[in-house]
Amino acid sequence: MIFFANPKSEYIYLKKKIDSKIKKVLESNSYILGKEVENFEKSFSKYIGIKFSAGVSSGTDAIILALQSINIKKGDEIITSSHTAYATIAAIVDVGAIPVFVDIKRDDFTIDVSKIEKKISNKTKAIIAVHIYGNPVDIKELIKIKKRYKIPLIEDCAQAHGAEYKKKKVGTFGDFSCFSFYPTKNLGTFGDAGIVSTNKNKIYKKLKLLREYGWVKKNISLQNGSNKRLDELHAGILNIKLAYLDQFNNKRILIAHKYLKFIKSKKIILPEISSFKKHVFHLFVVRVKNKKRNNFLNYLKKNNIYAGIHYPIPNHLQKPFLKYHNTKLPITEEISKEIVSIPNYPLLSNKQISKIIDVINKF
Ligand SMILES: *Cc1c(COP(=O)(O)O)cnc(C)c1O
Repeated sequence: MIFFANPKSEYIYLKKKIDSKIKKVLESNSYILGKEVENFEKSFSKYIGIKFSAGVSSGTDAIILALQSINIKKGDEIITSSHTAYATIAAIVDVGAIPVFVDIKRDDFTIDVSKIEKKISNKTKAIIAVHIYGNPVDIKELIKIKKRYKIPLIEDCAQAHGAEYKKKKVGTFGDFSCFSFYPTKNLGTFGDAGIVSTNKNKIYKKLKLLREYGWVKKNISLQNGSNKRLDELHAGILNIKLAYLDQFNNKRILIAHKYLKFIKSKKIILPEISSFKKHVFHLFVVRVKNKKRNNFLNYLKKNNIYAGIHYPIPNHLQKPFLKYHNTKLPITEEISKEIVSIPNYPLLSNKQISKIIDVINKF
């Protein structure tokens, strides 16, 4: 049986270190926003090459806090893609803003930057660029738009820890970047956690207020804030796993390159990759043409291979977001019926990888 994702395999691989870290944290008598969080924030900032990071409770909360820290409010418009996790849009709607959807490119699933300008209005208060599946968006063109219109840029890096655009890590191009450490992400803990990174000290200070009741000091609030804190157990686990991120990413990339090289089935369309982007393959997503997707998924299942669909319903067609359905998104809608995420995670064995390739080639 080959699972679609397998975070437990990462625990087994690092069991000794993780078990001893958990014991250490439990015996420390400090459980929320302590040394482990502080160390992780520093190490993570260093890893991506940015000045400040604030650990928070999830990737969704990271986006909510980023939007709150630039005072996004009711009626403001946020430009983003519909082809992303529900979480990206949930965060926009949570702060009362309106998602304005832009279509994607068929070959690599990232936002079609050439279609952004048409969607900018005087209510546009931010762009959220999603490095979907671990593949960087077209950052150079996006920065030009950001500068021309002076719109804050938020990078949703929840699937792209360690990805690079022209040798520079994603998460360092925008005003903020938001990461998730959900168990199956490229860097994941065994629960919910996230981080917001920025080069701006003022914004960083604001993020720290907003994640904990607006406190400048314990019990002294400067402004209202909620509880979106990161805890010591998850930060401790992340401190261990961060050291393995490059190794795990390299394995995902290696597997992806095997798929690209050896999957020959004419019925399967492979993703395109760009020479100046380092795609970290959080997901390896192929397209199945001619309404054959269900056949393909059932065929894989019969062979004990479990695939996923990310995402079967584009956000602009999700019930709670239908009222924001301001435009047709033909490519988003077309590919949502074709995409299949085939298993790709660091601890897939060579035998499993070969089996997946063989089975697909016989489809
Ligand atoms: C996972 C994910 C999120 C949300 O992260 P959580 O930690 O699950 O809240 C946001 N955006 C994208 C693109 C994601 O994949």
